[in-house]
Amino acid sequence: MARRPLVAGNWKMNGVAASLGELDSLAAKVGALSAKVDVAICPPATLVGAAAARAKGTPIAIGGQDCHAKVSGAHTGDVAAEMLADAGATLVIVGHSERRTDHGESDDVVKAKAEAAWRAGLIAIICVGETEAERDGGKTLDVVGRQLDGSVPAAATAANTVVAYEPVWAIGTGRTPTEGEIVEVHSFMRQRLAARLGAEVAGGIRLLYGGSVKPGNAAVLLKLADVDGALVGGASLKAADFAPIVEAAA
Ligand code: PEP
Repeated sequence: MARRPLVAGNWKMNGVAASLGELDSLAAKVGALSAKVDVAICPPATLVGAAAARAKGTPIAIGGQDCHAKVSGAHTGDVAAEMLADAGATLVIVGHSERRTDHGESDDVVKAKAEAAWRAGLIAIICVGETEAERDGGKTLDVVGRQLDGSVPAAATAANTVVAYEPVWAIGTGRTPTEGEIVEVHSFMRQRLAARLGAEVAGGIRLLYGGSVKPGNAAVLLKLADVDGALVGGASLKAADFAPIVEAAA
């Protein structure tokens, strides 16, 4: 099944209003590729509304980096999926390893957040990935399989869900798995999703690779089998770095 590539940038806890000029630069650089590739930027929650307004009329979609599972209530500091949608977001990352580690998010919590994203009409980008110790212990597929089973809701479809494979040890380190290791995990993920969701649904769900994707390695990584795009952290902050990655996916 043909899957349209998606390259999503995760600004993490970086960016102020002045950073939104990068969206203008990015739109100018990648606008012509919109027929071939989807592009998204997930700024910090403080910038989602302004980013969505700034990106209006361009092919750049705006997303959140996390959402609470509930619609509203006594959850100081949290942001509901509905609030992100109201601010103009169309997608949201859930289960990023930094959330799983810093905030103790379990697979159950991530699954509830994905369902909350759908409830608000957002696409959920659900992240999975092993730690270095787990990889060294030969547990990569066990861990990724368990996270997929636990974090991806049974009602996932190609329209409401994207899965990002992000080995924790590759995030922000400049290291990546070998091409063979990425292909092995992505192929495994496709099969694991097919076993639960059916081959047709699993065949349409986009599987992104994330972890130290840069302009210099994007062309190789994004052409690998079952890699349908990238989730990019550090290299998404500047349009000059991010645009070549988008080009590599097109
Ligand atoms: C990320 O945190 O989602 C990520 C992939 O980061 P980086 O590209 O900086 O490794």
